[in-house]
Amino acid sequence: MKKILVSACLLGETCRYDGGSNPLPVMEELRRRYDIIPFCPETEGGLPTPRDPAERKGNSIKTKAGKNVTKEYELGAEKALRLCRYLGIEVAILKENSPSCGVHQIHNGRFDGRLIPGKGVTTALLERNGIKVYSEHEIPDFLESLLLEERKKEEIRRQKEEAKKKEAEEKAAKEAEIQKAKKEEERPFAKKEKPFGAKKGFPKRKSFPSKGKPFRKKKDKE
Ligand code: SF4
Repeated sequence: MKKILVSACLLGETCRYDGGSNPLPVMEELRRRYDIIPFCPETEGGLPTPRDPAERKGNSIKTKAGKNVTKEYELGAEKALRLCRYLGIEVAILKENSPSCGVHQIHNGRFDGRLIPGKGVTTALLERNGIKVYSEHEIPDFLESLLLEERKKEEIRRQKEEAKKKEAEEKAAKEAEIQKAKKEEERPFAKKEKPFGAKKGFPKRKSFPSKGKPFRKKKDKE
């Protein structure tokens, strides 16, 4: 089963900065299709729960109290990438708006509740390394793309099978033609061939008396 990295808080883990979580019912659908790997970059980076809220401004992350926690965020992102590489994960679903997990937007760094276009530290690192990241709002798109991919694979498999079948049929037809041609070649030869002794110019065999009849003696010439 394919593995997907998912923000742990989306799976109900209480790892959010305020000790809460953001569970999503749609995760059950994903669990049926994938091996879900929960991951929280902030706690993995060494931050406690609950913790001071933090926001990203440029390349640095600071808490509301002004503490620089960039290193912890970067460590969490590094660990996420290492885990993806180790488990062969190519897809992640992360929590939008988070300074770690945001996919399309994050808070603006002023702690005023406003959002700006941008990515969380973990999302940016995963994407730079070729991992496809979806936000939780894109799960329906993700499932749709999955279905399309599955249909595409099924179509390719069907086409391959058909091509194989056609090839086998053509081979059998060719073989049958070869066999037919061989038989055609043998037939006229068999007609020409006459039994030994019946060939033109060969003296006819004398008939022998039938069984039991003695040879008739030639009369002596008088
Ligand atoms: Fe959720 Fe990501 Fe924040 Fe952890 S870092 S609480 S997984 S959004």
